[in-house]
Amino acid sequence: MSEIADKINIILKSIPEKVKLVAVSKTKPIENILEAYNSGYKIFGENKVQELVEKYNVLPKDIEWHMIGHLQTNKVKYIVPFVSLIHAIDSEKLINEINKESLKINKVTNCLLQIKIAKEDTKFGLSIENAIEIIKNKEKYKNVNICGLMGMATYTDDKNQISEEFNLLNSTFIEISEKYFKNEPYFKEISMGMSGDYKIAIENGSTIIRVGSSIFGNRNYQN
Ligand SMILES: *Cc1c(COP(=O)(O)O)cnc(C)c1O
Repeated sequence: MSEIADKINIILKSIPEKVKLVAVSKTKPIENILEAYNSGYKIFGENKVQELVEKYNVLPKDIEWHMIGHLQTNKVKYIVPFVSLIHAIDSEKLINEINKESLKINKVTNCLLQIKIAKEDTKFGLSIENAIEIIKNKEKYKNVNICGLMGMATYTDDKNQISEEFNLLNSTFIEISEKYFKNEPYFKEISMGMSGDYKIAIENGSTIIRVGSSIFGNRNYQN
C-alpha cells in the first residue's frame, strides 16, 4: 500500500459513507495521482484550468474530475467536456458561459454556487442574495444543473467561528432547497471542509469534502 492510498483510506474510514471525498491534487505530480488511482481511488480536484486539462489528458479517462477553484469565463470551454462538478460558480456571467458551452456539446454540467460565508475578506463567492437571484433564473440555464452550494470558512484556529460559518452554509442550503428546489432532488450537495476543518464541516452537514494536504502532503506554494 502506498502512503497516499493509506491516507485516503484513513480519511474514508473516519467519515460517513454518504460524504464524498475529493482528493485535491493541485500542484502535485501525475505520479501522486496514479498512486491513489492504482489503489482504487478515482475522485480528484484541481483549482487551475491548465493544470486540470494537462492532467486529464494524460491520466485514465475514468477519473472523476472536480474543478474546485475560481474559474474564468474564457477558460470554461476547456473543461466543460469532461468535468464532473464545477464547485465554485461565483457570478451570473460564469454560469451563463457554462450553460452556453454545455449547450454546444449537448451536455448538462453539474455545478455548485459558491457562497461567501467567511467573516474574513475573501475575493470570491456570491452573497446569499446574489445566489438566490441566480437560482430564481435557473430556468435560463437549461444545460446547467445547480446541485448545491459550496463554501470556505475563515482560515483561523477558532473552531467555533469555523463551525458558525459552516452552519450558515447549511441553513442557507436548507432554506434555498425548500424554497426553490422542492421538486428537484438533484439539489443535494454542500461542498465544505478541507484538511484543517473537514471534521467540523461534516458535523455541520457537509456532503462533499475537498482534502489536499492531509493526503498528498504540504504544497510548496499556497494556492
Ligand atoms: C486547495 C484547496 C482545497 C484543499 O486544501 P487543503 O487544506 O490542502 O486540504 C480545498 N478547496 C479549495 C477550493 C482549494 O483551493
